[in-house]
Amino acid sequence: MSEKPDILSLPYLEITSDLCKGCGLCIEHCPQKVIEFSANFNTLGYRYAIYMGEGCTGCGVCFYCCPEPGAITIYKKPKGA
Ligand code: SF4
Ligand code: SF4
Repeated sequence: MSEKPDILSLPYLEITSDLCKGCGLCIEHCPQKVIEFSANFNTLGYRYAIYMGEGCTGCGVCFYCCPEPGAITIYKKPKGA
């Protein structure tokens, strides 16, 4: 994704596809079930995880269970917004 999400779509999940190793931990543990595998492969040859585009609550579970540093970024509304 090249553009950052609009504040109205926050919280929002961004997965850097070429850092994902396709382990599936985020998909398995997301309480909202809003992450799935892409039909495509990244440059490492893995089917990477993608955010379905809505439904993320910003809970952070995917971020903390991902073993690949930098693969997952969660955008949340600033306090008071
Ligand atoms: S932050 Fe929580 S709800 Fe959002 S994608 Fe990650 S695990 Fe799912
Ligand atoms: S937990 Fe991380 S490495 Fe594993 S599928 Fe999700 S984004 Fe990819």
